[in-house]
Amino acid sequence: MSERKRSTTNNRRRKKRRRRSRFPQLLLTICILVLAALCLVFLGRTFFRAVGNSPAQTESVSAVSQSAEAGADQEIPEEPDATPTPEMINLTEDMIHTGDLILVNSSYPYDFAANESSIGLVNIRGSQSFYYQVEKTDYEVAGRMLPSLDQMIAACDAAMGTSETGITSAYRSYDYQQNVWDTTSEQNGEDYARAYVAVPGYSEHHTGLAVDIGIFYSDGSQGSFSESQNAVWMDEHSSEFGFVRRYAEDKVDITGIRNEKWHFRYVGLPHAVYMKQNNLCLEEYLEYLGSQTSAENPLTVSTSSGTYSVWYTSETSIPKPSGDYQISGDNIAGYIITVRV
Ligand SMILES: [Zn+2]
Repeated sequence: MSERKRSTTNNRRRKKRRRRSRFPQLLLTICILVLAALCLVFLGRTFFRAVGNSPAQTESVSAVSQSAEAGADQEIPEEPDATPTPEMINLTEDMIHTGDLILVNSSYPYDFAANESSIGLVNIRGSQSFYYQVEKTDYEVAGRMLPSLDQMIAACDAAMGTSETGITSAYRSYDYQQNVWDTTSEQNGEDYARAYVAVPGYSEHHTGLAVDIGIFYSDGSQGSFSESQNAVWMDEHSSEFGFVRRYAEDKVDITGIRNEKWHFRYVGLPHAVYMKQNNLCLEEYLEYLGSQTSAENPLTVSTSSGTYSVWYTSETSIPKPSGDYQISGDNIAGYIITVRV
């Protein structure tokens, strides 16, 4: 073997040895790099997982889920069948001037036209549930109040132990009141008539809800109701039957009418009871209802026949009250709703 050839052979062997000795070094480097990469991936995942579970994010996630739940809760009432639209009733202009609580005085005349179809006049003699005296056989009252009038007279007679309570005046038409006015002013002068007789159109007797009570003896003669014990009893107990003594001594400044112990006006329950308990005349009671009550803030009145909610409204469309209810105008500008609760 030549020198050159030997040298070449030695170089090849050296290169081969060098290659052999480099191989494990490269493998180690690759392994380290792979491990480093794996470590980075692991650390990265651990870091992001830790950030993902931070309290702030937990709260915000829970807040989102709560608001989603709240959103679901809010949607329930919006479903069309969940809250049905209340049935509405319309209150007409005529209804302001009709009903048991209409105020008729020198400022507010009776509306004959509005009441024509609803007054329901009946002849007392022909419709009374038991016999009691009526001064004239053609006297009439509103049919809806006659049962209460019968009961009040029967109770008064029972308390007195007599059968002397009767009726001296009832419904009066416009023409009838005109006759009373003309006769009184002819006989006693206009000043006297103005003091004691309502101007035609302004008498409470037009309503069919007012009566004058008298004493009738068995011989047919009449006594003084004002001086009788019947008047005392009726002043005390008429409210239990839905009546009020309309013109009292301490209310003359408000009613404009002198003290009349015999004149009773039907306003119905529970109004008569509340007016009596609180010593309010009709003008004062309507003023109170109009200024102090509403559907959201009704007056509650308890009587022996039940508990009632009472309120005033001037709205012309209201939700229909549930159960047993009545609507009366005040003959001024609005309506009184009475609901048995
Ligand atoms: Zn009268």
